[in-house]
Amino acid sequence: MIHRKSTHELVKDINEAGGCSHPIRLRGEFVNVATGEVNERPLLVACKDRRAVLCPSCSYLYKADAWIVVSTGLIGGKGVPASISDHPRLFLTLTAPSFGTVHARKSDGSCQPGRLRFCKHGRVQSCSRHHDDADSEIGSPLCDFCYCFADAVLWNAESSRLWNRTFEQIRRRLAIALGVPFEELSQHARLNYLKVAEFQRRGLAHFHVVLRLDGTGEPFSPPPPELTTELLASIIHSVAKEFSVTGPRGTISWGRQMQVSDASTLDRDDLRIAAYVAKYATKSADGSLDFARRFNARSEILKLNAPSHLQQLALTAWDLAQDPSLESLNTRGHAHAFGFRGQLITKSRHYSTRFQDLRDARAEHMKSPHSDDPVEGSFSYDGRGYDDPRATAIAEFLHQLSVESRKSTSIGITGATDGE
Ligand SMILES: [Zn+2]
Ligand SMILES: [Zn+2]
Ligand SMILES: [Zn+2]
Repeated sequence: MIHRKSTHELVKDINEAGGCSHPIRLRGEFVNVATGEVNERPLLVACKDRRAVLCPSCSYLYKADAWIVVSTGLIGGKGVPASISDHPRLFLTLTAPSFGTVHARKSDGSCQPGRLRFCKHGRVQSCSRHHDDADSEIGSPLCDFCYCFADAVLWNAESSRLWNRTFEQIRRRLAIALGVPFEELSQHARLNYLKVAEFQRRGLAHFHVVLRLDGTGEPFSPPPPELTTELLASIIHSVAKEFSVTGPRGTISWGRQMQVSDASTLDRDDLRIAAYVAKYATKSADGSLDFARRFNARSEILKLNAPSHLQQLALTAWDLAQDPSLESLNTRGHAHAFGFRGQLITKSRHYSTRFQDLRDARAEHMKSPHSDDPVEGSFSYDGRGYDDPRATAIAEFLHQLSVESRKSTSIGITGATDGE
């Protein structure tokens, strides 16, 4: 007969998995150092997934870590001196160009007003409605035939490379401003960044970037005085406007919508930026479960009950893989992210503390105090999730309780959960 676990046993399992909703199950061999006895038992390890739709508890920890990583790079802490808040710092938003007119919710609430015109497919090319923010039509093309789905997917696929090359170009201009060869820039100044990718409703990635200029003496020393916030802002403006990379099917460049703001004059908005960036670090492509994982078959995309333009982008990414010239972009493997490859959150090495350091510190803190515990031996993979489905529900409930109790007692992290 199968043993039905008591609530107490379930909570013990959840604790072992660090509160995770869908832990990884391992079969572990444990060796008792004192007696030499070998025991086999299941072991639960947290999934550590950053996406809230997949694991509320692990994503909460990730969001807290993201908040710390971003904010310490802006105001110091965790080994970063507070003096870095006097360095030139910018908050930058870079977007994709337009690949066709889409339904939108502009700041005045309008969509695409204007006189009645038709495209060559006979579709109306204006929209006088005021879409509700929850309207799934926002981001969808006014005409599916006019919209360049393939170009949109290819832009996503190349956007990380476009950023890397743009960043290099900004550094080249800084070297020119200092009058030193590019190869010697790192002896004079460092440009550090943290970047988070977020998907717009039209399924295109855009980037929020925190940029900070440092010197090269002590870690986090100030940059040379010639390198000012204004200089950095003007370099970014011109680079983002002029710079592009060549993809297999044409040029990839930034959209006209760009925002550059001085993080120091944002009225103590440092923490708001940190909260904002941390929040996007835990989202899947559209925030739903539909696009949280890779697809294994085209039919999985066809079965989705998602907004049709997002489904179309995923299908386009899947189908573009048939073109041998696009092989290196692996659009099929990234169809769930509409072609976007790479990490959602990336940073330069010297921006601030590392995610891994925060995880190590937490693991150290949670380590069992008993030194005579059995030593872990070899492990094998046994599956995903708890063996009792009630544990998932209890884990999510416990997570909710802990979030609510933290909300009432702490001021630090609650900003990061706003709007969730
Ligand atoms: Zn988890
Ligand atoms: Zn509309
Ligand atoms: Zn059309």
